[in-house]
Amino acid sequence: MRKMGSVPILDETHDPGLKSWVESANAPGCDFPIQNLPFGIFRRKNSKEARRAGVAIGDQIFDLAALGVKSGPTLNGLAAMGRPAWKKLRREISKALSRPSKLFQKHLVPMKRAELFLPVAVGDYTDFYTSVFHATNVGRLFRPDNPLLPNYKWLPIGYHGRASSVVVSGTPVVRPSGQTKSPDQASPSFGPSKRLDYEAELAFVIGPGNALGKPIPLQKALDHIFGVVLLNDWSARDIQAWEYQPLGPFLAKSFGTTISPWVVTLEGLAPFRCPAFARAAGDPQPLPYLFDEADSRAGGFSIEVEMYLRTPKSPAPVRLSHGNYNSSYWTPAQLIAHHSSNGCNLQPGDLVGSGTISGPAPDSAGSLLELTQGGKAALELPSGEARTFIEDGDEVIERARCAREGHATIGFGEAAGRVLAAREEK
Ligand code: MN
Repeated sequence: MRKMGSVPILDETHDPGLKSWVESANAPGCDFPIQNLPFGIFRRKNSKEARRAGVAIGDQIFDLAALGVKSGPTLNGLAAMGRPAWKKLRREISKALSRPSKLFQKHLVPMKRAELFLPVAVGDYTDFYTSVFHATNVGRLFRPDNPLLPNYKWLPIGYHGRASSVVVSGTPVVRPSGQTKSPDQASPSFGPSKRLDYEAELAFVIGPGNALGKPIPLQKALDHIFGVVLLNDWSARDIQAWEYQPLGPFLAKSFGTTISPWVVTLEGLAPFRCPAFARAAGDPQPLPYLFDEADSRAGGFSIEVEMYLRTPKSPAPVRLSHGNYNSSYWTPAQLIAHHSSNGCNLQPGDLVGSGTISGPAPDSAGSLLELTQGGKAALELPSGEARTFIEDGDEVIERARCAREGHATIGFGEAAGRVLAAREEK
């Protein structure tokens, strides 16, 4: 490891002094400086070009065909290749974008002239529940005396989500209809959800994965994470409340899940590793398959996640919350080790959601359910509007950034979705 002053530099691609000949990448506050280099799938707008892999650099996309990469229409092939290949490609891209070259100029496409697609074909999508603050906030709404169930501190709680309805940022989300029953109703009724919510999450994109029957040990788990995207787990709270027992979420969440188009790689995130969340005194020590010294020391990731709301009457997005993924009770490596501990096979392109990212502060809660105390305390927007849950025409925008003294700040772009009115009932 090279050192610059007292600042460790992970390798030359993380050097905070590195600049790109793509000028927009050097602007302060840019999500995609040369130290980031996230992958996505794009083509020119209104063209019949093949979908292919590119790298976000400033306000441009660098076509990976320039380096002879034949990606095909998803990143699944690249995800399957594994860490040595990812590192080698990252070094090549970093060189191509730092040394001025006329040759590479013609492989740039301005982002505003490009169409971005789902970065991976998602075979399976699992969602966890790893914020102890979120689990406690939500638990308290239902069980004031006993918010956290006894298994929470022993294993990462999760459920199998729906992969087919994962959509890329910018895709509208239709308000779901479903069965609901409030406590004062004798029987349920069917209609549009009245308590539509979002959940601020990250998702880990699986890399090589494991064969069926062969668990991934905790120590090797991060080699199976290709990168990270933003994920908004849209949730219909009224449908959820009626259907969730005894088997968990079903139609309350399978109508749409929005992810960001850019996969920020673990290499890009390396400077933002941090210790795992400090468990309270008296919390159980994880069982051996979920515990590793190095993972406790540096298995966390410091990623600031923000949620914004744009309404038809207030076109400037209003920030509703900001939390940090470093408050997650379980690390990504623990999620992978636990998920595969029974032999379940994870495959390239699978998504593993973090669960709602809520921190200890009231304005760090990653859902409206928490911010409005179950819909009891409406949020006042600067436009004078009030919101307990999402209304038709509202757009929810998730953003995230990583910042650390001595390192280039990187961002994730956004995961945005506007809610359309429910389909008319027949
Ligand atoms: Mn969720």
